[in-house]
Amino acid sequence: MTKPKIWLSSPHMGGKEFEYVKEAFDTNWIAPLGPHVDGFEKDLCDFTGSKNAAALSAGTAAIHLSLILLGVERDDEVLCQSFTFSASANPIVYQGAIPIFVDSETDTWNMSSKYLRIAIEDRISKGRKPKAIIPVHLYGMPAQMKEIMAIAHEFDIAVIEDAAEGLGSKINEKACGTFGDLGILSFNGNKIITTSGGGALISENENYIKQARFLATQARDAAPHYQHSHIGYNYRMSNVCAAIGRGQMTVLNDRVKQRRFNHAYYEQQLADLPIQFVKEPEGFFSNRWLSCILVDPKKTNGISREDIRLALETENIESRPLWKPMHLQPVFEKYPFYGDGTAEKLFENGLCLPSGSNLTMDDLKRVTEKMKTLFN
Ligand SMILES: *Cc1c(COP(=O)(O)O)cnc(C)c1O
Repeated sequence: MTKPKIWLSSPHMGGKEFEYVKEAFDTNWIAPLGPHVDGFEKDLCDFTGSKNAAALSAGTAAIHLSLILLGVERDDEVLCQSFTFSASANPIVYQGAIPIFVDSETDTWNMSSKYLRIAIEDRISKGRKPKAIIPVHLYGMPAQMKEIMAIAHEFDIAVIEDAAEGLGSKINEKACGTFGDLGILSFNGNKIITTSGGGALISENENYIKQARFLATQARDAAPHYQHSHIGYNYRMSNVCAAIGRGQMTVLNDRVKQRRFNHAYYEQQLADLPIQFVKEPEGFFSNRWLSCILVDPKKTNGISREDIRLALETENIESRPLWKPMHLQPVFEKYPFYGDGTAEKLFENGLCLPSGSNLTMDDLKRVTEKMKTLFN
């Protein structure tokens, strides 16, 4: 008899979602606009402390619109964290622009400010000053935003903060997504909260958000007929999806608590194993979207992250290697990269453990028991 599946990160409804969705049906707001869209945007502002938010069809759409708002065009260069999911970088190429990949540092696994500076100075020396910087709060761990923003200001380059995995994370109580000129969020099915699929753009700059809403609804000019002076996109969030989002916002703090509990439990239960966890630097608060470990076969008598993954799979437990860096991806390998191999090493040795907020104590025990057996 196979044991029930333990997923890496699965949707977790809070209870209010269906009520809000029913309200959308009862009032016939089945469209990419409506009261739940407005309400969800307000909820996101209240939660993050951002002044403005636009609910969109995906986090990827939010990154794409950010690049357009910053005037990124064909052959422009955009600096992007290499250690991330491909959605951080794809929109750069949608614009015909060139991604310049930057390595990670070991404290947060996010963009290295050292290589960010080296990359900027080298691009400028080639007469190619980058138009934007995309740091990522990977797995919920905040990037070193103080250092990154200082460099961005020094060189006068805009920052698009990819907080797709970092909703609920903060540095000294300031929410991830609110440090950059623009912040992007994702509500895909595997994220800390979900609208089944969706995203948002947040910014202190009201103009950016107004312009984002305009572009996201086919860039329709103010006229009684359909009049267009810009290329538009169909990137707005549906009122039905926003209804799910409003329900999820009522439990977001609990979801952060549960994910942090998972991480603390793994750390405690697996403390005797020769594996490493990433710690929160002073003042950093991670939502611990995914709990990750590093497994160095030189310290484990040859046990690799792949051995652990396969062992867990025999117990019907899903785990997954850390993101493969973008500069090593066939589709991106022709683009410049600045770094020293940190992201590559994280990829080689890293594993994400089951991290859903709906895991039971029994689920968590099944994971840790299997790992202890493998090492003993
Ligand atoms: C999920 C994710 C995105 C994209 O969000 P979607 O809503 O799936 O389009 C972007 N960046 C990172 C780091 C992500 O994890």
